[in-house]
Amino acid sequence: MKTDVIVIGAGVVGISAALELQRRGYAVQVFDRSGVAAEASAGNAGAFAFPEVEPLATPGILKKAPKWLLDPLGPLSIPPAYALRIAPWMWRFWRASRPSRYQALVAAQVSLMQLCQAATERQIADTGGAAMMQRDGQLQLYESAAEFRAALPTWELRRRHGIAFDLLESPEAIAEIQPGLSPRFTHAGFTPHWWNTVDPKRWVEHLAQVFRDRGGVIETRPVRALELSDTGVWVRFDQGAADAGKVVVAAGAWSHHLTRTVGDRIPLETERGYNTTLPPGAFDLRLHVTFSRHGFVASRINGGVRIGGAVELGGLDLPPNYKRAETLLNKTRQFLPGLNTQGGTQWMGFRPSLPDSIPVIGRSPKSPHLIFAFGHGHLGLTQSAGTAELVGALVDGTDPAIPVAPFTPTRF
Ligand SMILES: Cc1cc2nc3c(=O)[nH]c(=O)nc-3n(C[C@H](O)[C@H](O)[C@H](O)COP(=O)(O)OP(=O)(O)OC[C@H]3O[C@@H](n4cnc5c(N)ncnc54)[C@H](O)[C@@H]3O)c2cc1C
Repeated sequence: MKTDVIVIGAGVVGISAALELQRRGYAVQVFDRSGVAAEASAGNAGAFAFPEVEPLATPGILKKAPKWLLDPLGPLSIPPAYALRIAPWMWRFWRASRPSRYQALVAAQVSLMQLCQAATERQIADTGGAAMMQRDGQLQLYESAAEFRAALPTWELRRRHGIAFDLLESPEAIAEIQPGLSPRFTHAGFTPHWWNTVDPKRWVEHLAQVFRDRGGVIETRPVRALELSDTGVWVRFDQGAADAGKVVVAAGAWSHHLTRTVGDRIPLETERGYNTTLPPGAFDLRLHVTFSRHGFVASRINGGVRIGGAVELGGLDLPPNYKRAETLLNKTRQFLPGLNTQGGTQWMGFRPSLPDSIPVIGRSPKSPHLIFAFGHGHLGLTQSAGTAELVGALVDGTDPAIPVAPFTPTRF
């Protein structure tokens, strides 16, 4: 059968796009160099974080960064070997945090999140995935009244955009939702419309299985380059090539390596993140918990607990520094006093991140046949189903459900 669309990348974004294109009647083939959910989509915290509408590039954030950077194992680190390489991206990040740009980015993120929540419901219903969702909400924890007050503008932003939440102002109120936390957490925000999958890897494998069952093809094969033609796009392998009328690049943190081969230079970087997954019985975690000041989270994965997050701007090639995962686990001993830290598995993943905190979803300026869907940073799982619907409209040539102009690859 002739392939209508090739998707490069079998992470949550690529597989979701492939499924959506198949649903729209296209014959779709996916190529991934390592197989399904091999990278960031495998080990993330598993959250569908629809209330997270504020970009990372907030006004004033760079004033806080030096304090974080003083601690090499703190919430943000830049290994010295990568400091010069990341400088142009940081400059763009700073530009995105200016108040005028920030407002536009919030508006774009809000519209994408609204689409994503509805699209995820459609994806769950279409694929029979309800049993893989934990719809328990999220607790965002603060350690003092002052820290809580400093976060109120973010909660006010959510209120303005119709996001439901409750603010809790005592350890007792917090304990009603999540018992067993240290009393150092005096305040919290509870967002009910926040879901977690039981396991992000299993979620993508589930979607991939549905895609295959409906006739989709997933091949393990690295793509080395793209080549444009008048009627479509060629995908070049070490040996041989394949072509299709449309090609979707959804190769996560490596996507810019491919776009560069047709002359599209996109300032994609990676924010590396670390975690440790503890087996069932480690702690009775009732919902996703965010330790605000420390930049990491605890979530329930396969009945166990996954503890991690943080940002390391260290590029794609430096070896992982698993001391970062250990540091987060050690801190959590104080936050969850009954935590059993035995038997954990460490992981590092590459978030695909653009300097303005929103993804690239759009056609290449070089060809209407080449479509980009990458750079979702901290929110790729959350935004996968919505991105897939936008990709579907771009391939169809129909009107997308929300304007895609804010996500254009030409914005940099
Ligand atoms: C610690 C951590 C916690 C996170 N928690 C959350 C969370 O709770 N919620 C959330 O929404 N997001 C979270 N994220 C972010 C999320 O994991 C990513 O945004 C998302 O997985 C990106 O998906 P993707 O499909 O774009 O990329 P990936 O999952 O990285 O997939 C890209 C795929 O492309 C393939 N590929 C690359 N180059 C080539 C090539 N040349 N040829 C063929 N194949 C290629 C790779 O093998 C890979 O399989 C977290 C990330 C980290 C690191």
